[in-house]
Amino acid sequence: MKIPSVKGFHDVLPGESARWARLESTAREIFERYNFGEIRLPIVERSELFRRSVGETTDIVEKEMYTFSDRDGSDLTLRPEGTASAVRAYVEHAMQGVDPVTKLYYFGPMFRRERPQKGRLRQFSQIGAEVIGRDDPAVDAEVLVMLADLLRGFGIESAEIGVNTLGCAECRPGYREALVAWGESRLDERCADCQRRLRQNPMRLLDCKQPQCVGMRDEAPKMIDHACAACRNHFDRVLRLCDAEGVALTMQPYMVRGLDYYCRTAFEVVASGLGSQNAVGGGGRYDGLVQSLGGPAVAGIGFALGVERLALVLEAQGAAATTAVPEFFVAPLGEAAESAAFGLTHRLRVAGARVEMDSGSRSLKSQMRRAGKLDVPYVIILGEDEVAGGSITVRDMRARTDRRGIAPIDTDVETLRAALAAVATTAAAEERV
Ligand code: AMP
Repeated sequence: MKIPSVKGFHDVLPGESARWARLESTAREIFERYNFGEIRLPIVERSELFRRSVGETTDIVEKEMYTFSDRDGSDLTLRPEGTASAVRAYVEHAMQGVDPVTKLYYFGPMFRRERPQKGRLRQFSQIGAEVIGRDDPAVDAEVLVMLADLLRGFGIESAEIGVNTLGCAECRPGYREALVAWGESRLDERCADCQRRLRQNPMRLLDCKQPQCVGMRDEAPKMIDHACAACRNHFDRVLRLCDAEGVALTMQPYMVRGLDYYCRTAFEVVASGLGSQNAVGGGGRYDGLVQSLGGPAVAGIGFALGVERLALVLEAQGAAATTAVPEFFVAPLGEAAESAAFGLTHRLRVAGARVEMDSGSRSLKSQMRRAGKLDVPYVIILGEDEVAGGSITVRDMRARTDRRGIAPIDTDVETLRAALAAVATTAAAEERV
């Protein structure tokens, strides 16, 4: 009997994984230009880490975490996001001692028990970055400009970056009161979650997904109208620096993000081609988080992009997933030829060529059929004659020509490529005559 994969947990197959690898290598290149260093974080953390950072009354902590009791009774969780882990690592390794500004990036799977649908999985992968140590608006702008560079680097055409300010310890309490007052005015029309969370966490009223709550949102008070002078100045400077670099930002006065630790600058990236799950990434400033996790009183800011959703956007834009094609297919006929083919294949691979080899017990016809399916440009044929003569025959699959004795069996890859190129040039010249 087959054992299927678990709902919401997907395989990423070759072709699709090549797209992922390209996204990751582009991200790596851009992160390194901005002087970020990669951190590899564990997948399992103490549950307490997320309760304290993401927040007890968030959807993630209330409903979505994969929490389990280990055999020794410790309360553990499969990480639902990366920032808490990055900050935990920063504190644990006292990274402020290395440089007052710590810039980290990470790749990896996150786990949330959400209802699966297109673009929403229970295991999904993120590309994330964090800057810890400075509350300067130039850092927010650096992060946003880098985010725009990343999206451009990925080839995402339709992305829009929405921003908001979430205030600080000074001005947030006044805004919370305004939100509670607004929430209470039509409390009975709200969903059960919002009714329950109103006093504990009124910011959650703004990102509730229930239709009746979404409908009321446009009348809500805006944080920007309650922001203190310091928060306003901070936000203005972020916007100005981004504007000067041509990074377009859209003001979204009701965007609050689904996690409690954010303050001041918050942002979200949306793109078309995803249906209802149109957010490809998000992030923001988290100035109190490091201290609340036992570290120094330093500021932080970061974001995460969802790899599955980036891949879906690229697919919707018509970028096909590409399967890598071998440069050579080695087709041996019989056991003696297979031994020679085995050595030749290994030599070509060591020299850096992508090579597929078939089995000497299969007919030439079936090997050729397979090579054709793989779309390989050159098949190296090794039959009895070739072994006896010590040279190889190469079939050019595009030109449909066989070149007997084009190179010795012990050829190196450079000689072989040069011989094939010379043949192609001669053939082209003959055609012109
Ligand atoms: P968040 O921290 O929730 O804003 O997540 C950041 C990004 O991760 C989102 O914009 C998505 O691209 C991605 N993401 C979050 N949750 C999921 C999920 N359940 N399935 C797939 N991608 C997700």
